[in-house]
Amino acid sequence: MEPQIASVLGDPREVSVVVEAPQHAALSNTLSYTSASALAAGTLVRVPLGRRVVSGIVWDEFASAPSADAGVELRPIGEALTALPPLSTDWCRLISFAAGYYQRGIGELALSVLPPQLRQLTDAQLLGRRAKVDKFVSAAASASGAGSAPELSAEQSVVLQRLAEQARAEPGATTLLHGVTGSGKTEVYLQAAAQALAQGRQALVLVPEINLTPQLEARFVERFAGHRIVALHSGLTPAQRLRNWLAAHLGHADLVLGTRLAIFASMPRLGLIVVDEEHDPSYKQQEGARYSARDLAVYRGKLEAATVVLGSATPSLETWQRARQGRYHALSLPRRIGGGALPAVRLVDMNKAPKAKGATTPLAPQLVEALNDRLARGEQSLVFLNRRGYAPVLHCADCGWKSGCPHCSAWRVFHKIDRTLRCHHCGLAERVPRACPDCGNLDIAPLGRGTERLEEQLATLLRHADGRPARIARIDADSTRAKGALEAQLGAVHAGDVDVLVGTQMITKGHDFRRITLVAAVNPDASLFSSDFRAPERLFALLMQAAGRAGRDARQAGRSEMWVQTWHPAHPLYEALIRHDFAAFAASQLAEREAAGLPPWSHLAMLRAEARTPQAATAFLSGAAERAAGLAAADAVTLYPPVPTSVARVANVERMQMLVESPSRAALQRFLSAWLPALHELRRTAKSADSRILRWAVDVDPLSI
Ligand code: ADP
Ligand code: ZN
Ligand code: ZN
Repeated sequence: MEPQIASVLGDPREVSVVVEAPQHAALSNTLSYTSASALAAGTLVRVPLGRRVVSGIVWDEFASAPSADAGVELRPIGEALTALPPLSTDWCRLISFAAGYYQRGIGELALSVLPPQLRQLTDAQLLGRRAKVDKFVSAAASASGAGSAPELSAEQSVVLQRLAEQARAEPGATTLLHGVTGSGKTEVYLQAAAQALAQGRQALVLVPEINLTPQLEARFVERFAGHRIVALHSGLTPAQRLRNWLAAHLGHADLVLGTRLAIFASMPRLGLIVVDEEHDPSYKQQEGARYSARDLAVYRGKLEAATVVLGSATPSLETWQRARQGRYHALSLPRRIGGGALPAVRLVDMNKAPKAKGATTPLAPQLVEALNDRLARGEQSLVFLNRRGYAPVLHCADCGWKSGCPHCSAWRVFHKIDRTLRCHHCGLAERVPRACPDCGNLDIAPLGRGTERLEEQLATLLRHADGRPARIARIDADSTRAKGALEAQLGAVHAGDVDVLVGTQMITKGHDFRRITLVAAVNPDASLFSSDFRAPERLFALLMQAAGRAGRDARQAGRSEMWVQTWHPAHPLYEALIRHDFAAFAASQLAEREAAGLPPWSHLAMLRAEARTPQAATAFLSGAAERAAGLAAADAVTLYPPVPTSVARVANVERMQMLVESPSRAALQRFLSAWLPALHELRRTAKSADSRILRWAVDVDPLSI
């Protein structure tokens, strides 16, 4: 039959639709349906799939291939959600690109990044929600009292001017803004956003974890009072998320402040994308489509001619390298606002620390003295340790028993507050046994130390001159579980009601503490010798970030200090830290990476498999390796042997992984596209129940190895 004839005279026409169907992840193509009326590409629809009705998006212009065989009768689409304007062509392009790059189904990705309620509400309900959005944003916009902007420093002015020039000369280009902590980067984001708004465009500001830095959100809300600003992150209720998403999609919201998922916000007038702390690993999604919001920001900027600013005091080496190669513009803010010095870094050689009962004291005497000095002067200190709980493991000295998790290859952590042993991987929690479960010894003891124990130790060591105990606050995932707890604790720190803040890396990020003059890292060495090649980069960023919490008030900056207790004081990483020399650190890391052929000199993907036995997971990976032979670009990729993941067993599931490497990103992409269908096939053909795997996934540009 001639297709042209069918579409004349109101006959149902054929539409291509991408559908939400993770179980058909191999279905990356569109499906064909019929529709009585013309539907614009980007329209949300419900369509029958088998016996179910699923959500989909009309994808006509992007259909890769006609999906229906001639002679197959097409089914009509169900409801079309025409209460909303269709998703834009640029949005669909972004999704297509991301789905292809990260090897997921287009429909699966598209529907997973939209607010969940869009998949549940009817067209009539959406119309109602839309009306509420209009009311909500006009109420927000009429709020008055917009905060005034400070006068820019000379360096900030230059940065903003350059950004504007670059935007004119090369719309959609990406700029790395490398600025030391406290150099006024956030102020640059605020003013760049104000400029975008003044031009009638929308701004998207991505931050690593909004809930950890309520202060930052408050700063934006205050500055843009009178403008329409919405947040997008996973902490919102479904109704709030839909409302805020709609405000952006309808073009009502001028500014979207969000976490990684906000990179997919539909914004018809997008003019600026800021990625704050661009090196932060939380920009990489760790399940489903494992996308990097930072990398997609760069792509999206080009697509929509929106200026992209990647900001950090410690950029990722990938970004640093691209800036050096001229693929990104580079601007810098090398000094703190107000001219305050960065804290002096002091390394404490723990090899020389005094020992008590054969064990090294947890806090070197010099450090305790420095902390007490701060107390005497009424200044605050911050002490961090990346391990929560009281002690990472309980131990019986008689028989050697340790508090392992029966379901995971990990220890259960001792939490003294509620006297539990908790597995941080599977969640198993039990009361601490009275005696050793193996030999009955009553004397089981904690080994090592977490933030709870550190808090306890500091409480015994630190005193005001008049004998009053120091006021210590602990901030970690345990102390902030209750809603509002983190805000309250941070509020107490800002108000000066706390002398010493103890916590995990949660407290090292982003906070603009004004009274802290001493920051101490108690035990950061572990990452120096990790098998993950990115561990040093992460440690350096963490320590620089942490140092950045001290001396933020220029009047106190001169005597601010960063203390690091280490067994390896001569390590080059610490030597670069002493000089606050990110460039030197980056150069040495990049040289090592180049010699070892690691990113950014090569491109990686990780194939992970989970099964009831390590053998089954390994068999899947080995089968996958066999099927790689002869595929497109297979000669340009290297497959490494399967190895267990860092915590191999979690909740009785065994996890193995296989690294895929290529010097060429394009070759890696071609190879993966050819390989993935073979992997779906391999999974289906597993012979016996024993050899079956539970899950597998490919992670492109994996962050943890
Ligand atoms: P960063 O994001 O680089 O850590 P911020 O933008 O938070 O730096 O600036 C550090 C501190 O300096 C903040 O308290 C901020 O309010 C203040 N600040 C930033 N720019 C200026 C300026 N031009 N004039 C006065 N204060 C400023
Ligand atoms: Zn025992
Ligand atoms: Zn466990």
